[in-house]
Amino acid sequence: QSQARPILVATPNAASKSRFIEALEVERALHAALERQEFFLVYQPQMDLRTGTIVGVESLLRWRHPTWGLVPPTRFITQLESLGLISAVGQWVLEEACRQSRRWEQAGLNLRVGINLSPRQFLEPDLFARIQQAIRTSGASPARIELEITESLAMQDPANAIALLGRLREAGIKIAIDDFGIGHSSLEYLLRFPIDAIKIDRAFVSNITCVQADRVIVRAVTAIGQTMGLSVIAEGVETLRQCDFVDALGVSEIQGYLIGKPMEPERIESLLETFVRP
Ligand code: C2E
Ligand code: CA
Ligand code: CA
Ligand code: CA
Repeated sequence: QSQARPILVATPNAASKSRFIEALEVERALHAALERQEFFLVYQPQMDLRTGTIVGVESLLRWRHPTWGLVPPTRFITQLESLGLISAVGQWVLEEACRQSRRWEQAGLNLRVGINLSPRQFLEPDLFARIQQAIRTSGASPARIELEITESLAMQDPANAIALLGRLREAGIKIAIDDFGIGHSSLEYLLRFPIDAIKIDRAFVSNITCVQADRVIVRAVTAIGQTMGLSVIAEGVETLRQCDFVDALGVSEIQGYLIGKPMEPERIESLLETFVRP
């Protein structure tokens, strides 16, 4: 599992020369990874707190290097961005997640599939066309696709974001604001965004049982969400106590290790068959 070498992580004692060589190695490996089909997607289940059923999944990118093993996304997504490779990999993610959505739909499973968009991808002028293409070639239903966009990114150019999100929603695609925290958002703008869901960052959920400020924030966000008719998803729910807390605060769905870790698509299917609300 964790035999992955720490790549491109600042190691204060390492000679800068070896770090430079390491960076080059990673760059070369990332260039080859798409061609060698070393990327794959895992899916993390999301449970509706009202019905106690799995209603959606978030697709999460994984990279298995032949000798380094499994490299976590936090170690390579920013590299993909700076190397200018995120568009190609992001397009593959879009297409693969749409194909999986289509497979599940054909199997009669009712699942929404979340797809993360990187900041770079979001700023590309042909993003709308690329998404349309992924949906068309896969045969996926737009209504089963939910794009996850980070709050900080959407706020960079709100007018532009509002226009693009509006077009995507007109095409029937769902939009979620990811990693939501009160911090860097202009709430007024955010409320003008055409969206379907808010995902509350794990940072607010981790200490929800002991930090009152976090409870106040989660309650405020859910109140806003309810008023606006949005789903509010709490991320990173690991314990039953955290689940009970966010439930009491009005959250509509939860995602986290309590329900399941990110897993291969086949395991999502068996989970759906055996799932009992924790
Ligand atoms: P994210 O979008 O906020 O995804 C949620 C992360 O939280 C995932 O980490 C997930 O495994 C982790 N997580 C979920 N539940 C729990 C929990 O109960 N406890 C803890 N400790 N962690 C939990 P992961 O898969 O390592 O992904 C990290 C980040 O990498 C993602 O954060 C996202 O920003 C980025 N990422 C992953 N896949 C993609 C992708 O396909 N495209 C882009 N652009 N970014 C991606
Ligand atoms: Ca996400
Ligand atoms: Ca998130
Ligand atoms: Ca996050």
